[in-house]
Amino acid sequence: MKTSEIIVIGGGAAGLTAGIFAAEKSKSVTILERARQPGRKILMSGGTRCNVLPVRATLDDYFTDSSRNRLKNIFKSWSVQQCHSWFEQSLGLEMACEEESNKWFPVSNSAREVRDRLVAAFEKAGGQLHCNASVESIHHDGDAWICTTADQQTYRSPKLIIATGGLSIPTTGTDGTGHSIIQRLGHSLHPTFPALTPLKGKHPGTEPLPGVSMQVSLSVRSKSNGKHLFTSNRKGFVFTHQGYSGPAVLDISHFITKNSAIKDNDVEIRVNWLDRDADWWMEQFQGKHSVKPLLRKYLPKRLTDNLLEEASIGDKKTAELNKKEKQHLLNLLTNYPLPCKGHLGYSKAEVTGGGVPLDEINPATMESKILPGLYLCGEILDVFGRIGGFNFYWAWVSGRLAGQSTTDN
Ligand SMILES: Cc1cc2nc3c(=O)[nH]c(=O)nc-3n(C[C@H](O)[C@H](O)[C@H](O)COP(=O)(O)OP(=O)(O)OC[C@H]3O[C@@H](n4cnc5c(N)ncnc54)[C@H](O)[C@@H]3O)c2cc1C
Repeated sequence: MKTSEIIVIGGGAAGLTAGIFAAEKSKSVTILERARQPGRKILMSGGTRCNVLPVRATLDDYFTDSSRNRLKNIFKSWSVQQCHSWFEQSLGLEMACEEESNKWFPVSNSAREVRDRLVAAFEKAGGQLHCNASVESIHHDGDAWICTTADQQTYRSPKLIIATGGLSIPTTGTDGTGHSIIQRLGHSLHPTFPALTPLKGKHPGTEPLPGVSMQVSLSVRSKSNGKHLFTSNRKGFVFTHQGYSGPAVLDISHFITKNSAIKDNDVEIRVNWLDRDADWWMEQFQGKHSVKPLLRKYLPKRLTDNLLEEASIGDKKTAELNKKEKQHLLNLLTNYPLPCKGHLGYSKAEVTGGGVPLDEINPATMESKILPGLYLCGEILDVFGRIGGFNFYWAWVSGRLAGQSTTDN
């Protein structure tokens, strides 16, 4: 049996950060990572550029069914600015801000550099990284935690950090083993669902539109009472072979995935194809324009043609549209009901919604309230953020707090 003062299960973003902060104060910290190499999601993040952080973050950028007050307290422990300085000054990662999207990327545009600098910092602080170590069970023997791996190796430590991530992209190593283990130990789970995942559904008109992209505004509303629930912060939208993707779609996808997970199909998505309101379109309709060229000035040609096909407007002039036709066209342009019929699930989801409730941990330390000496951080907890570096920020903040707390007496 191998012993360590602190064991971290999972060498992803949260686990590596927890390991670094724990190893700064403890002589023996071991990370057990089931994959052949750590941080595989970091490597694939941001189109392999890794969007390390947002420029700023507020609680509204995050979703949880747990207490938002707890979430606020965890974030208060490390601001985006402090986290940014840590990356630049302690890890030596130079970052550049992408102004139009308010995101920080490494100057090298290399996700590998981010991952490698985290691993180097952990090893420099004296930490031991064991890859190909898939933890299958954990128990407590009265004094310490005993972790058993798939190849029957055992590891013993008084303090244990669980950073096994969520369920998204299972081929990277996150298949939910961590969730089963933590449940067997006595924790509960808020229902999990894929988040930031592409949606499935029909395209407007009869000709499919894969590859057609535009800047839109998406809003989510309740089907039963019409109540407005959410408007996407991001605008990018693209038609795919199976439906729809792009930052705007990913950002609202959890309304669909969560509702299908709880078998409540009460939400619908409305699209404003140009993010302009009906009054603006009415101004463009003034005068004697042919509808098709007018719309093609602002919208992709193929989308224009399909929308006009749906509206059965053909080659009419704006002045020839009667009141009903005008209203129908305005609705198609600004309030189009997206016929969404499902989603691509965990195989394409960037993150997992749901997880261990924050109410079951101490937000000042990330220690379990049910299992003293056991800490949780990262995506295994019931928190996810919108697209834009918010998910890594959660991993870095919660990982640091868990790592530091294991060495506080
Ligand atoms: C394609 C893609 C792009 C993304 N891009 C961005 C981005 O640009 N910016 C952003 O903020 N977020 C991005 N994300 C989200 C971000 O990657 C996650 O939020 C983050 O990785 C979560 O960190 P984590 O450490 O909690 O989990 P993970 O990074 O998933 O790490 C968990 C680790 O635990 C290991 N593990 C699991 N079970 C066991 C076990 N039983 N024993 C041992 N080890 C185990 C896994 O192998 C894995 O290495 C992206 C995600 C994806 C999939």
